Amino acid sequence: MRYIFMRFPGGKAKAVTLSYDDGKKQDKRLSDLFTANGMKCTFNLNGDAYRGQAGLSKEEVIEHILKPGHEIALHGYCHRAPGGLRPLDGIKDILDNRLELEQKYDRIIRGLAYPDFGITRFENGASYEQIKSYLTHLDIAYARSLGGDNNRFSMPTDWHNWVPTASHNNPKLMEWIEEFLALDIKNEGYPAAREPRLFFLWGHSSEYDDKDNWHLIETVCEKLAGHEDVWYATNMEIYEYSEAYQSLVFSADGKKVYNPTLFTLCFEVDMVAYTISPGETITL
Ligand SMILES: [Zn+2]
Repeated sequence: MRYIFMRFPGGKAKAVTLSYDDGKKQDKRLSDLFTANGMKCTFNLNGDAYRGQAGLSKEEVIEHILKPGHEIALHGYCHRAPGGLRPLDGIKDILDNRLELEQKYDRIIRGLAYPDFGITRFENGASYEQIKSYLTHLDIAYARSLGGDNNRFSMPTDWHNWVPTASHNNPKLMEWIEEFLALDIKNEGYPAAREPRLFFLWGHSSEYDDKDNWHLIETVCEKLAGHEDVWYATNMEIYEYSEAYQSLVFSADGKKVYNPTLFTLCFEVDMVAYTISPGETITL
C-alpha cells in the first residue's frame, strides 16, 4: 500500500505559523517585524469594553495587521478561560467577541486562541466535550490551546485543541527551531515519517518590553524566516488548506483523485509529487 502525504502550497513539507494574544500596543512593532521577514501571524483580540484604550486602535489593526495579510482571531470578549465558565457564560464570551470583531472589521472571523488557562483545567461544570460542542455550534473552526509544548512539530488531530510547538519563553526554543529546520522530510528513509511538519510559536508582544528582550524574537525571525522549503501562513490559512486537502476524493483503486475544492492542492505518493487544481481529476 502506498504512502500518501499532504504537502503545503508549492509542494513544501514544512510550515511555520505564529499566534500572539491580547491586542497589545506592542503588536504593532511585532507585526511589522513579521511582515518584514515574510512571516504570517494570527493576532488574537478581546472585546473593546475589556481592552479599553490600552490596546491597538482599529486603524492600527487595519494598517499593521490586516493590510500586510496577517489574521485577526478571537480571544474571548472578557478574556475568560472556557474551562472555568458555565457553558452559557462560555458561549456568551465567544459569541460577543465574534459579533463585535466581525462588525468592526467587516469580515468573517472563526479562529480562536483560548484565553487565560483555556482548557487546561475545568471548573463550574465545564468539560472539554461541552466546550468543543458549543465552539462547533458557534462555527469556530480552530482553537489554540497551551501548556503542551513539544518538539514533534505535528499537525493538529483536534482543531479545537490545537497545541502549539512552543511559547517564545520556552528555554528549548532555539534548539527546537534548529531541529525543525534540519528536518529533511521528503528524503526521510523511514516512509511513515514523511508527514508534513508545522512549527507553531505563540506568546504576548508586551513580554518583549517587560523583559527588554526584543532581540529574542528578532533572532527567531532571522532563523525561521526565508527558507524556500517552508510555507509561512496564518493559523486560518493552515486550517483551510488542511481541510481542503482532506476533501480530496479518491477512486476505490486509489488511482484517480478529484479536487472538489477551490484550492490548488499538493501531495506526495511514495515520494512522487502531485499538484491538483480546483475541479481537476488526475490519474496517479
Ligand atoms: Zn490573553
